Amino acid sequence: MTDIVVLGAGPAGAGVALGLKRLGYPVRVVSEWRRFAAVEGVSQRVLDGLRQAGLHRALACAAAPSPRRVLWNGDGQSINQECLLDRPRFDAAIREDLREAGIEVLEARVLKVEGSDAGHLIQLDSREPLRADFLVEARGRSAPLAGGRLRGPETLSLLNQWQEAPGHPGSAVESLPDGWAWMARLADGRCYWQITQDAGGLPPKDQLPDYCARRRAESALVRELFGDAALQPASLHARSSTAILFHEASGPSWLRVGDAAMAVDPLSGNGIFQSLSSALQAPAVINTMLQRPDRAELARQFHQRRVEHLFLRFARTGRDFYALEQRWPEQPFWCDRRTWPDADPMHAPADFSQVRVARAPVIHGELIEEVEVVVTADQPLGIWHLQGIELAPIITALKRGELNQALAALPEPQRRTVQGWLLSQGYR
Ligand code: FAD
Repeated sequence: MTDIVVLGAGPAGAGVALGLKRLGYPVRVVSEWRRFAAVEGVSQRVLDGLRQAGLHRALACAAAPSPRRVLWNGDGQSINQECLLDRPRFDAAIREDLREAGIEVLEARVLKVEGSDAGHLIQLDSREPLRADFLVEARGRSAPLAGGRLRGPETLSLLNQWQEAPGHPGSAVESLPDGWAWMARLADGRCYWQITQDAGGLPPKDQLPDYCARRRAESALVRELFGDAALQPASLHARSSTAILFHEASGPSWLRVGDAAMAVDPLSGNGIFQSLSSALQAPAVINTMLQRPDRAELARQFHQRRVEHLFLRFARTGRDFYALEQRWPEQPFWCDRRTWPDADPMHAPADFSQVRVARAPVIHGELIEEVEVVVTADQPLGIWHLQGIELAPIITALKRGELNQALAALPEPQRRTVQGWLLSQGYR
């Protein structure tokens, strides 16, 4: 049986490992611990993704939704919610989920991966090298990066942490003339503040804690959420947060998932969601590459196209959010991000003339398979099923002038679903 090694025990690596284990593959995970403490905010759909991936202990780490203040474009009215994730706890719970599923997790730093498509030799810092027939690269932003197919403006996030008295949890985000800041306070009094700016032009490293404290002192939101301790210099960790699409998401015996394949701007708030998305599709892709070599290219094409599609969706979401801030149109930080990656709308408007049937890869059970799907301007990868109804036969019938017969064959609720969808696509 093929020996599969996953590099990195973040949400993406763990999601793939659990999926492969369910398919009966012997799989090992090798990972070191993240070198800094962080808190991240996630939405309900991340929690759904964790549940779907079988990461139950990790899911249990998410705090109950707490209020999030949004101060953007001078508008301070907006309040929504997010669940705060204490990353060290979350990362530890992921490993417990893996071990509980019977997956070996080796704690080591990967120094180098040598090899060819016939096999990989993984050099570790504290153990004998590992051999793998198939490799899953899930080391997040630390995965080796030989350039990128697409890179957003170079961006750096400075994360500060300090301790205050326990209290109500909450978070906030605010735009600044040269960037934006996200801040959170956990119920146990741990406080986090993160400023995201252009990577160039920051003060030297030893001056950064004072610089950050000064920036906090200028913020009314900081005074609202935190006590006086927020005005003192705090422990600091710098992280790159440039949006990057890696140039290739797979090779004949390897696959990239999560941030190692595509890392999004943290403003989109979707990092963990996108990591889980690529991880949830990966087991079927790998299974197809290993069991059906005749479909290996199709499976790789499926993975690549989905990764690229998701990347562009999140990049455009970020762009549109940046564009909402209009107070500093001349500032390079805002100019660059308002226009990247392109000017295409987030969702293409409905245009029935573009609706057509095409053959495309989909996940069918445990494999990738090519089937007839319906392609629209907004869904270029195609729709196979609409709430369980296969759509291609209906569009084929419609193009032949036989829509009524096709609809008549459906039960009433399904017929209404299809009619509603056709109307939403501009069919009259
Ligand atoms: P990671 O979670 O990065 O996991 C990679 C794993 O590989 C880690 O365990 C690491 O220790 C290990 N590893 C790395 N190198 C090696 C090595 N050489 N050897 C062995 N192991 C190694 N997402 C959100 O959803 N909400 C947020 O609020 C949010 N805020 C963010 C703020 C910033 C500043 C940044 C940069 C990102 C943020 N993200 C956020 C994104 C989120 O952190 C990532 O998208 C997500 O963790 C990616 O998951 P992953 O499994 O691909 O990689």
